[in-house]
Amino acid sequence: SSFPSGGLRSTFEARGYTAWDCTSPAFVKKSPDGKRSILYIPTAFCSYTGEALDQKTPLLRSMEAINKQSIRLLRLFGNTTSQKVTPSVGVEQEYFLVDREKYLKRKDLVFTGRTLFGANPPKGQELDDHYFGAIRERIAAFMTDVNEELWKMGVAAKTQHNEVAPGQHELAPIYAQCNVAVDHNQLIMETLKKVAYRHNLQCLLHEKPFEGVNGSGKHNNWSICSNDGQNLLDPGDTPQDNLQFLTFLCAIIKGVHEYAPLLRLSAASAGNDHRLGANEAPPAIVSLFIGSELEAVIEALENGTKVASIADKQFEIGVDALPNFPKDTTDRNRTSPFAFTGNKFEFRMLGSADSISCTNTIINTIVAQELCEFADELEKSDNFEKDLKELLVKTIKEHKAIVFNGNGYAEEWLEEAVNVRKLPNLVSTVDALPEYTRPEFVAMFEKFKVYTATEINSRTEILLENYSKVINIEALTMLDMAKKLIIPACIEYNKTVCDAAASKIAIGLDANVEKSIASKISSLNEGIYNAVKVLDEKVITAQGQEEGLKMARFYRNEVFAQMQTLRALVDEMEMCISSDIWPLPSYSKLLFSV
Ligand code: ADP
Ligand code: MG
Repeated sequence: SSFPSGGLRSTFEARGYTAWDCTSPAFVKKSPDGKRSILYIPTAFCSYTGEALDQKTPLLRSMEAINKQSIRLLRLFGNTTSQKVTPSVGVEQEYFLVDREKYLKRKDLVFTGRTLFGANPPKGQELDDHYFGAIRERIAAFMTDVNEELWKMGVAAKTQHNEVAPGQHELAPIYAQCNVAVDHNQLIMETLKKVAYRHNLQCLLHEKPFEGVNGSGKHNNWSICSNDGQNLLDPGDTPQDNLQFLTFLCAIIKGVHEYAPLLRLSAASAGNDHRLGANEAPPAIVSLFIGSELEAVIEALENGTKVASIADKQFEIGVDALPNFPKDTTDRNRTSPFAFTGNKFEFRMLGSADSISCTNTIINTIVAQELCEFADELEKSDNFEKDLKELLVKTIKEHKAIVFNGNGYAEEWLEEAVNVRKLPNLVSTVDALPEYTRPEFVAMFEKFKVYTATEINSRTEILLENYSKVINIEALTMLDMAKKLIIPACIEYNKTVCDAAASKIAIGLDANVEKSIASKISSLNEGIYNAVKVLDEKVITAQGQEEGLKMARFYRNEVFAQMQTLRALVDEMEMCISSDIWPLPSYSKLLFSV
């Protein structure tokens, strides 16, 4: 009865239905004592009135939509054999590991998953020595255990490596059918946490546990495959002649352009707001990378010219013992939110703690929508190839503004994207979430029976409420830590300094150093005290706001802003206080001691 429903049902009327998702394999887990086996069955969850309360039902509906529309198009290309088209997904999952004892000493990590205070250590990620270094033994032992636990449940964990920030790592499974991949990602997150506990570690899935070093995300690799083994996003050796591939590509270009706000909001959360647009993750502006080869193909199609076929280029390394190797036709863009990577698209905006369900529901639906539009038009055609080409040229002309192969971190891109190409720049969660209920978006979801308007409204409400709650908890945790730990520690340390000054003065020595330290600490502590008072008041005002968007905006603009002010003062103070007295494990200890 307490399951968040966003008004879909009331607490006193709590009946709901579950239905097994037979397309996602059931699995068995051992009880913690190893004595019993427990059967788990992936399950959908609906309310008494039939609305989806879960993330699985809309996802499965979206898979049906893209299946149906893809088959329509395949038939137009003369394919009579494929019976089913299914999206495949493989997700790279980033996470941090910290020592559990130190974690427990930080209320901010325990309550909010991220550090709300913490001065930068002398060394961060600038040498990339963690990224390129060997995996340390304690971590390797953890990873081995994680893999084994996952394999037992049928999750094909495969890649494992260190990531950019100290203490940061990544895991990726072999890709699977979309809904299975979603379930597996949930199991991966749960298993990382559980196994970490066994190793006396804590796994942090928060998007930004530490200021000053990279945060964590996940990359959603997505493709569509037919049941007879054709990856519909495989360009083949000569993409310029592969009209079927180009049709699916154009549908995706159009979909990402028209529904960019939906993709953006599928990655919106209080935690991910710290990453998107902060030059460590893609910008908050959605664009699409297709690489130089495909761009040339698209350009040629638009202009009715021919592309010179790309001759096999070989690199010569110049060492007899090493082989020459063929040059890949496309470089790898790191900054694009939605990047073509050979035979799949990689959506890179997601936060590390997100479920990947909403994102995939949206990708499936927007592509289904575009395929449907194409099929509606082409099924009427008497001259398929001519009309198809015209349709593709028109699509390219109208939607190429979303295609961007350059550096997404560059200042100029922001300027060009917003002012020239008119792409939406939804900076934060409170800017992105209201887009969910835009009438044309709701109409699309209803057309494919993925979400009803009621289901979208309830989701928007839940997400906005969640945003306000998260910031509220963060603010309260900050206040608690500042009042009970930080301010008292500063007073205590300052007393030691003042006592030392008094003793020196008593025997006729000057106490300039002590006086200067004491006065700096006094004035900083006063600043902290005042910032705490302001934050206290803002939290009370926030709690009195009208629920929903108004409240969320207040938390973002007022409460979160004041939290930043308080943090800056406390971080400055941390550098003035003896580390024996500072009441929190420092960044150095958290990031460099595992
Ligand atoms: P990188 O870090 O270079 O992006 P990784 O190997 O870490 O690559 O992750 C790539 C992910 O993409 C893996 O989970 C892999 O299984 C998945 N993947 C590969 N091919 C496909 C495909 N056709 N469709 C969906 N996912 C795929
Ligand atoms: Mg990777």
